[in-house]
Order: sequence, then C-alpha cells, then structure tokens
Amino acid sequence: MRRTRPACASARLSHPDSTNGSHESGRSIWMGCFLGTGLGVPGLPYRFAFDTITGKRMTSAPNNEKKTWMKRVVVSGSAGFLGSHLCERLHGMGVEVIGVDNLLTGHMENLSSLIGKEGFTFLHHNVVNYLHISGEVDAVLHFASAASPPDYMDHPIQTLKVGAHGTVNMLGVAKAKGARFLMASTSEVYGDPQISPQPEEYWGHVNPIGVRSVYDEAKRYAEAACMAYHRTHGLDVRIARIFNCYGPRLRRDGRVVPAFLHQALMGNNITVFGDGTQTRSFCYVDDLIDGLLGFLHCDYVGPVNVGNPEEYTVLELAKIIVELTDSVSEVVYRDLPADDPKQRCPDISKAKSLFGWEPNVDLRDGLTTTLQWFRAEFGRELSELDQRVALQRKGQ
Ligand code: UDP
Repeated sequence: MRRTRPACASARLSHPDSTNGSHESGRSIWMGCFLGTGLGVPGLPYRFAFDTITGKRMTSAPNNEKKTWMKRVVVSGSAGFLGSHLCERLHGMGVEVIGVDNLLTGHMENLSSLIGKEGFTFLHHNVVNYLHISGEVDAVLHFASAASPPDYMDHPIQTLKVGAHGTVNMLGVAKAKGARFLMASTSEVYGDPQISPQPEEYWGHVNPIGVRSVYDEAKRYAEAACMAYHRTHGLDVRIARIFNCYGPRLRRDGRVVPAFLHQALMGNNITVFGDGTQTRSFCYVDDLIDGLLGFLHCDYVGPVNVGNPEEYTVLELAKIIVELTDSVSEVVYRDLPADDPKQRCPDISKAKSLFGWEPNVDLRDGLTTTLQWFRAEFGRELSELDQRVALQRKGQ
C-alpha cells in the first residue's frame, strides 16, 4: 500500500466491559498490517493482513489486540457486500453475529466463510416484517437495502419499505435489547450536492420525486427515525453516511467499479455515462469497515461521513481500470441517468477527529486486489473468452 496510516488511539475501542471475546479456535485472525509497508498499525486491532500483489490473505497473526465491548450483534443485510464484510470482521473479533437478510440483492455465497461456524447464525428474513431476537444483543447494525442505483430502481417499493419500516423494526429490536444502533446511511442523502466536499452539516439537494428518491428519501427517513428514537427513547444511535465503496464481493449490480472491471476484463466497451466528468470517491471495503467499527466504538451519535476523500472523475476511473487490466477495451459514452450526482466527495474531518480514522488504501492498490477476486469469480467466463480469441487468431 502506498500510504501508511498514522497511528490512531487504541483507546477508541475500549469500553468499561471490554473483553477479548473468542468463540472459536482456529478462526481467521485479523491484524493491522500490510505487506506493502511491512508495518503493523498500532491501535487498529481488527484488520487482516493481505498481500497487495496477489490479494491473498496472509498468515494469521496473534489475536492479542482485538478488543470490543460487543459480545452479540445483529446485522441486517448480512448477505450483501458491506454486510457480509462486517459480519466476517466482527466474527473474527470473537463477537457472536446474527445475520439477517431476505436475499433480495444479497447472496449466500458472500457468507460462505461463516455459514456453519460457531458464533454465526443466519436468519432468512425481510426486516420490513417484525423481527424477534431472543437473548441479549449489544448492537444492531442496519445494512439491509438495495444499494446500487439499478437495483433500487428495479425494486423501488422494497427500497422505500426497507429504509422506512425496516429501519423502524430494527430500531425496535435495539430499543427492546438496550442495544447500540448503527444506521448504514449514505452519501445519497446529499443528493446532487451543490457544495463539495460535503460536510455532515450540509442538508443536501435531493429531488424528492426523482428516480433515485426511493433510496435517497428512504435513507433520509431512516436518519430521521434514528434521531426520533434517540430523542424520544434515548436510544444509543450511530448514523454513518457511507460513500462509494468497492472491493471483493462487489457483484455486477450496475455500480461503476464492478461494471468497468468486468467490461475491461471481457474486452468489452467501457460504458461511461454522460461525459464522464462527474466525480466519485472510492473507499476500499476494509478501510470502510475500519471506519464503521471506529465509529461504532466512539461516543458520538452522528451523522458521520465514512468514505475516501480522494476524488476521481468517472472517466479517470475508466482509464485506471483499462490500465490495470491491460485491456483492449475502449470508452464509449452513454446517456447520463436522471439525477446522477455531478460530484461526490466526503469531508471526513469529523471521522478523523472523533475516532482517528482515515482511509489507507490507494485506489490502484484496492482495485488490484478487487481485480484478483473478479478474475477468480469470472474465471470460466474469462477463459472461454481467451479460448475464443485464441481460435480467432488461429483462423487468421
Ligand atoms: N457509471 C458509468 N458507467 C456505468 C455505471 C456507472 O459511467 O456502467 C457512472 C454513473 O453514472 C455515476 C458513477 O458512475 O456517475 C457512479 O455510479 P454508481 O452506480 O457506481 O453509483 P452512484 O455513485 O451513482 O450511486
């Protein structure tokens, strides 16, 4: 990794009831270390080590730094991209995890490392409906929702319901259990922002009846619901506004990173919407999970932006992906979807000052790791393509 993380206070993970929980011997161990720097990262107990070239996880490290006050948590949206990474990380910290998902856009394969393991339970359930969890729960992490624009536009009513009824139901679980509640909100609450970077104080610029409104307004409602439960019942909420993120397991759901990676690997045209000058900032999934856990362990209701402040145009992203994949793909331009935000970049000064977090993974490094996963995932498709190309060459 090119950049190294400044040391951040390990105290941020402490809690009066701190335990070094462990429910399973021989499980994967997470540590703060990257091969690129060769340095451990003090105070960052919940990061696994991986080889930046192969993307493979490195040998386990001693589990001597993991500390969390949480013993048992509920994660909605557990079979999704972020939900599954979160479940995996928490389980690796010795936390018992109850994952809930209706599999509308999530996939059980995302949980393949956890299914059947002690300390992990999966409930196939739509959180739009009442959910009963028996026993004590320390935290409820609400990640259930379609998240890619094509997905939420394909499921507009389910998206509204999970953001509204689903959030209220999960807030109800947290209230019943006296648990902390983490809301996976989104940069979409800022809509098509008129200021950049976006600080948490910005109220946003959302088209309330546009095609994206089912997601944007549902998440805005969810934030309002969190604050109502906080103000009315004193519920201990955390509102995280999550910006664009990527990494292994991000399936081809129409989002730009998997779309471009797949197109580049297949040698297809790279479809840039609009003129490609719209910007996004892309946070690698491990960084994002670090940020969410840092926030969960700090004493601040939020909202807090969690994302990478390095901004790229979509065209720049396309060029980087073509270069990294050494692809013959060419950029083609397609119509810009309605209400597509022109710029998006988080102001993360709050996350930095509150829990000492900032992203660490350079875009090219994160994409390289993601690429490894894509190659493995689409290996057969890709080798068939190679064979076709080879046959074509033979015929020439
Ligand atoms: N985009 C693109 N080509 C694609 C998919 C997306 O140019 O094949 C653009 C999209 O118009 C947007 C940006 O990439 O400006 C990010 O889109 P994404 O769907 O990943 O999420 P968003 O940030 O819009 O929620």
